[in-house]
Amino acid sequence: MAAQYDYLVVGAGFAGSVISERLASELNKKVMLVERRPHVGGNSYDCYDDAGILVHKYGAHIFHTNHDDVWQYVNRFAQWNGYVHRVLAYVDGLKLPIPINLTTVNTLLRKNFDEQGIRDYLASVRVNIGEIKNSRDVVLSQVGEFFYEKFFKNYTYKQWGVYPEALSPEVTKRIPLRFNTDDRYFGDKYEGLPVDGFFKLFDRMLDHKNITIALNTDYKKIINDVKFDYLIYTGPIDYFFDNMHGELPYRSQRFEFETLDVEYYQEVAVVNYPNDHLFTKITESKHFTKQRHPRTTIVREFPEATGEPYYPVPMESAAAIYAKYKGEADKLKTVYFAGRLAEYKYYNMDQAVKRSLELFQTIAASK
Ligand code: FAD
Ligand code: UDP
Repeated sequence: MAAQYDYLVVGAGFAGSVISERLASELNKKVMLVERRPHVGGNSYDCYDDAGILVHKYGAHIFHTNHDDVWQYVNRFAQWNGYVHRVLAYVDGLKLPIPINLTTVNTLLRKNFDEQGIRDYLASVRVNIGEIKNSRDVVLSQVGEFFYEKFFKNYTYKQWGVYPEALSPEVTKRIPLRFNTDDRYFGDKYEGLPVDGFFKLFDRMLDHKNITIALNTDYKKIINDVKFDYLIYTGPIDYFFDNMHGELPYRSQRFEFETLDVEYYQEVAVVNYPNDHLFTKITESKHFTKQRHPRTTIVREFPEATGEPYYPVPMESAAAIYAKYKGEADKLKTVYFAGRLAEYKYYNMDQAVKRSLELFQTIAASK
């Protein structure tokens, strides 16, 4: 006889894991969590490499949020190390703070502006754009052509395979502009990494008698062998509907890891390379953890058009396809769609957590 569950949850990233935990511990529901990869954690997964250094398998992941409820929730499963993310961009042979701030402008232009000086300078070079329609407009209207070219144009092309004018404003709006010397990458109230790694956080979150985990399993392979009342799907939405409205575009990445015989390789955890090389950035995860180790591991990120789907592409043509899938999804009464791939939204980790906490509230209220 087929095993019986209340919920089948597809995908063990933050979206799928949070909803599984909530249903299992708060509503005493029996959950089967199915994950295609050999581990839980989704793209946030980290692990020790062959040299014994904790690395992020799918690119640098720093947790940051302004939501008190999300922060309280994730604090139940991990202690956080207080890491504050800082990024440098390699431009014209210099390593400069990104987001652009007072130091960036002064160093690149060899000026000595104060806060008012930089405001006046940027006011004189920014482009007057009426309605902001795309990611190029966002940057030009803040800092003008010169800084757009140096920091955004080529990086965006590498990252997305299109120039910023083809992307919706939300992409470059993620990067603030600062008139002072604040060089934090994120400006959120809470920020950090789990002291003993994301993989431990997920282990603790999913350690519940009501949760059964099936790894290395595409849900389509087992769906007919499992009995369940509801499905919560966090994988790519077009895959769920067998691409009936065409394939959605996703951006993928290739991660090239290298272990070096030096204690540290670079000044900060992430250095972006907008104009040089085929990769967008080099990440050195020892900066996140302060792990004591005589060697270090770095990873270069090469964006790619095909491969594992990592990023929904925020552009109009993709939004039109997604809208058709959303129409299909809304017709299904026993299936919920949540997360970055299922909702085709450029979520950060905290937004995926928030979405699942809210979905849980909706489900709990309907019972
Ligand atoms: P995912 O983590 O993608 O989880 C979905 C899971 O579903 C995957 O494990 C997948 O294998 C599984 N799955 C898919 N299809 C199937 C199937 N058919 N059957 C079974 N399982 C399936 N966010 C931040 O907040 N801070 C950062 O610094 C940050 N950096 C990032 C860097 C990179 C390179 C990337 C790609 C993303 C980054 N993010 C960051 C975003 C973060 O990864 C996402 O917000 C988060 O992973 C979303 O969680 P999710 O559960 O929706 O999706
Ligand atoms: N971006 C850029 N240059 C940079 C950093 C970011 O052009 O040095 C642009 C690029 O389009 C990128 C977007 O801003 O995709 C958002 O950056 P973020 O770091 O938030 O991207 P993610 O963490 O999702 O890779």
